[in-house]
Amino acid sequence: MSRVRRLQDYAEFVGPEELREIWSLVRHVEGATMVHVNSTRMGGGVAEILEAMIPLLNSVGVSARWEVIEPLPGFFSFTKALHNGLQGAPFVLRQEQVDTYARCQQLNASRLDLNADCVIIHDPQPAGLIRHRAEGRSRWVWRCHIDLSAPDPVAWGFLRPYVEQYDASIFSIPAFAQQLPHNQFMIEPSIDPLNDKNRDLDVRTVQDVLERYGIDPERPIITQVSRFDAMKDPMGVIRAFREVRRREDCQLVLAGGGASDDPEGQQVLAQVREEASHDPDIHVLELPPESDLEINALQRASTIIVQKSLREGFGLTVTEALWKGKPVVAGAVGGIRRQVIHGFTGFLVRSVEGLAYRLRQLLHDPSLRQALGSNGREHVRNNYLITRHLKDYLLLLLAVRYPDADITDLAGAGHP
Ligand code: UDP
Repeated sequence: MSRVRRLQDYAEFVGPEELREIWSLVRHVEGATMVHVNSTRMGGGVAEILEAMIPLLNSVGVSARWEVIEPLPGFFSFTKALHNGLQGAPFVLRQEQVDTYARCQQLNASRLDLNADCVIIHDPQPAGLIRHRAEGRSRWVWRCHIDLSAPDPVAWGFLRPYVEQYDASIFSIPAFAQQLPHNQFMIEPSIDPLNDKNRDLDVRTVQDVLERYGIDPERPIITQVSRFDAMKDPMGVIRAFREVRRREDCQLVLAGGGASDDPEGQQVLAQVREEASHDPDIHVLELPPESDLEINALQRASTIIVQKSLREGFGLTVTEALWKGKPVVAGAVGGIRRQVIHGFTGFLVRSVEGLAYRLRQLLHDPSLRQALGSNGREHVRNNYLITRHLKDYLLLLLAVRYPDADITDLAGAGHP
């Protein structure tokens, strides 16, 4: 549920000085308008961020809106293949897909209100809207949330001409940046410590959720929360769990739902169910949308959180786990590498065997679990809360408002 937040509600997490800095930036962008466009209202990290960010931007005086594109038949199958291709999977382009993509952009350009000082288009699905940009002062920014470190050349060759038309682009980590004819900004995602996904929960609520899903609170729980997506490698998690469980008493929870822009989810879920059938210690939970409290409770109840991604833009599930003081064992890919500091906030792994090894080590060492967890929480407090993200968006508004300024004098009139 989205609730109207006030900036001061975050003082307990980040302190008053940080909030003063944000207010001082707000003065320089007052009255600015912003529209964000993505491809799904629910499911996945982008929707998660926008759900929290749009009300917060409005609460500080930036007039922000969120628009979602409508697909045409076949559009999301194509954009999911494109997404995989941009993350390095082999990609083949067919002319009819190019046509569907173009028609879908045209259709959405005519139905969406894209009038704002700053138009932020998230990910590849709506990127082609740029071709329908109206004359005017709007600045258009493409924000990429996926791992673009080694794209398939055909996939990037398809998207690049669109991206080049933007005034700027945003990547989550430096390794994803590209050769482009405009400014590139680095903005990392964030979580909202006050929403149902991340707020503190009482013990009773956590226990109720475990009971509802038949999970034993007395035995160690290893959890991965993710959309059912091959790139999140749920099958690899099961293999590592089986290896560990040969000697350790533990349970595995694989919890996730789908996203309307991801047509592959059901197939991966069916494969995971098949693999896990007849094993009462593997809990495959298909969660409906709006399961924020349940996910929060499952993360809090866990002994260890896993995110064994093979590719990952950022991995908000890792952020959520670290914030809850949990040790995280995760794939050494994409934005996960900025969050999991090996041996300090968790462990990075590159194989099923590596995951099994670290799980065993952590199951045996409660004080290591505790130390990693508490370092993780501080790492998130310092870098990945929504207040830092808000500050980045305010700076972005300044940067696009004064595109030619080398120096923006925030202490003075706002512009040198
Ligand atoms: N999530 C959810 N329900 C699910 C699976 C995931 O609410 O069934 C949330 C998860 O808690 C996180 C986001 O969706 O906030 C996933 O973001 P992440 O960056 O980890 O991965 P993405 O799905 O964007 O690839």
